[in-house]
Amino acid sequence: MSRPILATLDLQALDNNLQVVRRAAPTAKVWSVVKANAYGHGIDRVWRSLASADGFAMLNLEEAILLRERGWKGPILLLEGFFHADELPLFDKYRLTTSLHSNWQIKALQNAQLQAPLDIYLKINSGMNRLGFMPDRVHTVWQQLRAINNVSSITLMSHFAEAERPDGIAGPMARIAQAAEGLDAPLSLSNSAATLWHPEAHFDWVRPGIVLYGASPSGQWQDVANSGIRPVMTLSSEIIAVQTLKAGETVGYGCRYRASGEQRIGVVACGYADGYPRIAPSGTPVLVDGIRTGTVGAISMDMLTVDLTPCPQAGIGTPVELWGKEIKIDEVAAAAGTVGYELMCALAQRVPVVTV
Ligand code: PLP
Repeated sequence: MSRPILATLDLQALDNNLQVVRRAAPTAKVWSVVKANAYGHGIDRVWRSLASADGFAMLNLEEAILLRERGWKGPILLLEGFFHADELPLFDKYRLTTSLHSNWQIKALQNAQLQAPLDIYLKINSGMNRLGFMPDRVHTVWQQLRAINNVSSITLMSHFAEAERPDGIAGPMARIAQAAEGLDAPLSLSNSAATLWHPEAHFDWVRPGIVLYGASPSGQWQDVANSGIRPVMTLSSEIIAVQTLKAGETVGYGCRYRASGEQRIGVVACGYADGYPRIAPSGTPVLVDGIRTGTVGAISMDMLTVDLTPCPQAGIGTPVELWGKEIKIDEVAAAAGTVGYELMCALAQRVPVVTV
């Protein structure tokens, strides 16, 4: 018998979530964002369930090549483009669309020897101030790109810094409008938050990521609870030992939790080396035998401890859901002061994964 920890991926939920996106943005084409190994789910495991999208967007050339080798013939967008000029022949060979955000990339494109011109996503810095050209530079860059034989088409793209806020995109949208004025170009602006909550930003292609995996772009599950999206990943384990504490006794490293009376504690085979956040405080929600309870004390490398008071029948072998259909990953993330994105991406290699 192996250690009782498992991540289960619900592939129908992926397709369901893609359909939610389609309904939210009915006139736009959809890039399924599968960067960071499909947000920790494993690109090879999930891409077929997202293949009714119009294209796949990611970061790594290796991930893009993998998709081509698996047989995906549709568009592939590299969200940060190429990192070195010598990667361009691979963009050519595998017919990849590249984002373009810096002057050196324009020069590289000019000098490259390619079989066929590439589709380009020209990145506008609309206020995030990470990648992209300032709005007042975009017309000049556009003209430069138009003059390069290696360029086939140009789409304008930008990425919002806080689309989860109702008033979070007005400023960026004004900058994008300034940049795009007079240019006859398709637009791709919307991440999950803008796809769900800002129809005015949908335009030609939306680029949802987190919502496909069934978590909220705002970090608050209640914001998507009625949207129809379903969690994809369930992280489950079992109780492997039970302790009964007396009043005043503590549990775990640092003695961070002290029982106020007699209390049954379940030890669960999941720790921070599995990807559970070490910083999660006592009271982080967890499901034991179908009943909601909370963690107690510090999260260890290989174990965590839970309060069995609400589930007196629980014992060794009782199933535990760390996150999934009942305990939303957003809830665990919020308790730990992070976001569902980080928890998904941090799922450890040692956790076995199955798809259903
Ligand atoms: N587009 C770009 C350029 C991104 O970097 C990301 C992810 O950060 C996305 C789209 C998808 O964002 P989200 O997962 O919030 O939908």
